[in-house]
Order: sequence, then structure tokens, then C-alpha cells
Amino acid sequence: MLSGNLLTSAPKVPLWFGCITLFPELFQALRYGVIGRALEQQMLHVETMNPRQFAKDNYQRVDDYPYGGGAGMVMMAEPLCDAIDALKESAPSTPHVIYLSPQGRVFDQVAALELMQKQSLILIAGRYEGIDERVLDTVDAEWSVGNFVLSGGEIAALLMIDVMARLLPGVVGDASSVATDSITSGLLKYPQYTRPEVLNDRRVPSMLLSGHHQEIAKWRLKQALGRTWLKKPELLAKRQLTQSETELLAEFISENNARKKD
Ligand code: SAM
Repeated sequence: MLSGNLLTSAPKVPLWFGCITLFPELFQALRYGVIGRALEQQMLHVETMNPRQFAKDNYQRVDDYPYGGGAGMVMMAEPLCDAIDALKESAPSTPHVIYLSPQGRVFDQVAALELMQKQSLILIAGRYEGIDERVLDTVDAEWSVGNFVLSGGEIAALLMIDVMARLLPGVVGDASSVATDSITSGLLKYPQYTRPEVLNDRRVPSMLLSGHHQEIAKWRLKQALGRTWLKKPELLAKRQLTQSETELLAEFISENNARKKD
């Protein structure tokens, strides 16, 4: 259950990821923005392992036809298991091994904090029709990034690394910005504005220009409660509202004559 801000349980040590992939170049995408800085500052370590280097033939083949026939190719077990063993050797602590799969538990912000506690994680990105079932014997968990099918697990791995890295203390410069993020705080983030003050007759709410920090914080909390009630009421159901939060939400509903969309 979500209780207030989820961030309190984020570990304060570097996170280590070992990613098994046929396309290690795709992980260069992590080199940008706050995640890139976290890599440079060694708050986060990501290494890739290509199962092709453990292929048993001269053609570096890592996929083969499925027994029993059927469409597509299946990733062979041996190169994957060898890649897992090689990454286990270089992990700083016993890694938790994850196969990224549409058949897994669906990843979310709560899961991110749960998985971060493991500190060392191996992520297996499948390709083709998936992997030989016997690899799952050496896997601790299967995780999905949503109820759809990607052409490979790399985007799922990148997504999970990004979400977890962002939660590490110090990765996002201003910790309060992560603490008030949608979901992390247990609520959706309040509306935000930047210049210009007036855009096509639409003004920034006057409260935000008032300079009254306490009143602004109260307004933001009211908006966060209100839009959570409107857009993701299931988050409110998981949260025990304080007396003042209940009052602010009631104010939001009556001031906005708010009605939930279908
Ligand atoms: N035939 C497989 C099935 O129906 O379960 C799907 C294979 S998919 C085309 C290739 C790879 O993409 C999978 O092995 C998995 O690693 C990854 N993948 C696809 N969808 C995913 C999802 N929703 N979450 C995580 N990984 C996914």
C-alpha cells in the first residue's frame, strides 16, 4: 500500500545493472540528461553483455527454430546462461536476475522501489519469439513494462533503469522535484507553468505569482489532490487522507464544480 511519499525507502548506494542484449548500442541512450550524469558520477553502473560472444558456432548464432514448429525463432539457452554467469562474476553483490517479458508482473513506481533494494540487477532483453523456457530456471523474476508486446526487451530495460535511477538520492538535483512527482508522492503532480504569464488570454493562476510560499504550497496540494481524484482515483483509495487534505479536496471539488470524466 502507498503511504505518503514512496521515496523514503530508496536505497542510498549505487545501483548496478547488467544487461543481456543483442543490441548493446541501444544502451547508449542512457548517456543523456540526469541519468547520463548519474553514470558519470558513478551513482549508477550499467554494463552490457552480448550473448553472441558465447555462441557455440562460427556464425555466432544465438537463435534457432522452435521445437514443434511454429513461427519465428527462439533465443538459445546456452549463450544466455553463459552471459548470466559472466555478469554474475562482475556484479558487486549477488544480482537479482530478471527476464523482461510481456508475461511478467507489470512494473510500476512501487515495483521500482522494491527492485532497487536488490542493488544489483541483471536484466535479460529477449528478441525474436522470446527465449528458451529453460533459461527461466535461472531467473528470479519476470517483469513486464505494460500489457503490449515490444519487439525486444531493450526498451523495457532502459525504461526500468531510468525509473530506478531517477529515484536514487542525488540523481535529480532538486530532491523535492522527485518527491512531488506524480505517483511517487502518492498523488499526481500539481499543474505547473512557466513564462509567459499570459498565453492567448490564458493567465497563470494568480496564486503562483503571489509570493506567499505557504499559500502556494497549500494551493498545490489542493490541485494535486483534485487532479488525482479526477484522473487516478485509485491512488487516493490507497492513501489515508489527513483532515486538512480531506478539506482541501472538498474545496477543490466545489470550486471547480469538478466532475470525473468517463
Ligand atoms: N512471443 C513472446 C510472447 O508472446 O510472450 C513475445 C516476444 S517479443 C516479440 C521479444 C522480446 O521482447 C521478449 O522476449 C521480451 O524480452 C521483450 N518484450 C516484449 N514485450 C515486453 C513487455 N511488455 N515487457 C517487457 N519485455 C517485453
